[in-house]
Amino acid sequence: MKEIRVRFAPSPTGYLHVGGLRTALYNYLFAKKNNGKFILRIEDTDRNRYVEGAVENLINSLKWCGLTYDEGPDVGGNYGPYMQSQRLDLYKKYAEELIKNGHAYYCFCSQERLQSIREEQEKQKVPQIKYDKHCLGLSKDEIQENLMNNVPYVIRLNVIPNQKIIFQDIIRGQVEFDSINIDDQILIKSDGYPTYHMANVVDDHLMEISHVIRGEEWLSSTPKHILLYDYFNWEKPEFAHLPLLLNPDRSKLSKRQGDVAVEDYRAKGYLQSALINFVALLGWNAGDDKEFYYMNELIEKFSLERVNKAGAVFDLQKLNWLNAEHLRKIDNIELLKMLKVYLETTQYSKLNYDDEKLLSIIEAMKERVSFIHEFVDNCKYFYEEPSEYDIKSIEKNWKEDSPSLLIKFKEQIEKLNNPQKEDFEIAFNKVVEELNIGKGKLIHPLRLALTGQSTGPGMFDILIILGKEEIISRIDKAIKTIQIIKGT
Ligand code: GLU
Repeated sequence: MKEIRVRFAPSPTGYLHVGGLRTALYNYLFAKKNNGKFILRIEDTDRNRYVEGAVENLINSLKWCGLTYDEGPDVGGNYGPYMQSQRLDLYKKYAEELIKNGHAYYCFCSQERLQSIREEQEKQKVPQIKYDKHCLGLSKDEIQENLMNNVPYVIRLNVIPNQKIIFQDIIRGQVEFDSINIDDQILIKSDGYPTYHMANVVDDHLMEISHVIRGEEWLSSTPKHILLYDYFNWEKPEFAHLPLLLNPDRSKLSKRQGDVAVEDYRAKGYLQSALINFVALLGWNAGDDKEFYYMNELIEKFSLERVNKAGAVFDLQKLNWLNAEHLRKIDNIELLKMLKVYLETTQYSKLNYDDEKLLSIIEAMKERVSFIHEFVDNCKYFYEEPSEYDIKSIEKNWKEDSPSLLIKFKEQIEKLNNPQKEDFEIAFNKVVEELNIGKGKLIHPLRLALTGQSTGPGMFDILIILGKEEIISRIDKAIKTIQIIKGT
């Protein structure tokens, strides 16, 4: 059987789009599942769209996502170079071969002439604006003369009208196009660079790509590619066109409605494993209800046959949910490392909390966060005393006797020497029993005094994390401040 070779072929326009990530991921999964090769090819032949640093950016994003390629610009391989701008001679050579066989031709038409054809056809309301094949009629001598005189030219594909172009798509089944709707595509531009169609087909052939897996937006290019394969007499790869990515309102996923760059999700603290899991499910499922996957399970389960035709909705809520699920599966020592890295970027970098304390915060908060940064943002009170107190909770939970209850509790705490979690529990119960009150009467004002909030992790987790001195000082401060707020 032929070796499976697939490629991700982005144009370096600045960043890796999540749609691009989905394409890259499906190619990667398909290659890994079938013991094939995954190739990165940079399609940088559109000089107008060239963006400095875009290739490095793309490569970094792919690497962060764990999509290691077997061949590519920075890793080499037997089919290089893997940057199209370094392969210009090849495209020229193959375009000339097409010209020789009558499948392509030089076109010397000026911009003005092309413009007037366009305007004329617009007037006539033709369904598809097309070049009128004028230069196909030039004699050999006319062509030679133009070339000698350095008249600027492009090379065009000679599309024979009125033929059906039919191909099988793994996801869409049989796809048919009528060549009447296909313009005589430019293959080589006047700057000597190939167009997407030409470079893409030549490279897929020379790089022995077995399966072309790409977004649906390229489906309408495929008949042009099929013509090229036929004209060259080359074996065609298999095609699979992936469904569009949609916003929740079913419009095409766009930057206006949120982040589309992988680097933005990374910067916001999404986990690589969660993003991969989420993106894998944009148009594919294993045929069951399972939604949580690691990369190795995706490789095992993935198949192109189970990719949907219908557009896939990009649901940020689901990504957030998956992020939380993945986060909870990470072991606490690993989370500690991640939290320390994050803390370095915050105003708390100078706190120098020991590992034990940070681990206690992680344990207390693990079920309550979706992101690493929430080990800080959702519980700032572990890092600094509250600067304000939740007004609703004051109204609801701060009773006339709250200060005296808190003072009683504080007195118990003051007696403790190097208290452990159980000691706090004993002290708490003692107050409640001695005063014969419900636990809530103490717990609510105590939580408010220590954290400024009405919800959070278990009370005894909070006590042990804050420690004796901090508890005492926060109770004192809260009594003073809340009494002022309440005006009593
Ligand atoms: N360069 C195209 C892109 O930017 C590649 C499309 C294809 O895979 O054929 O997505």
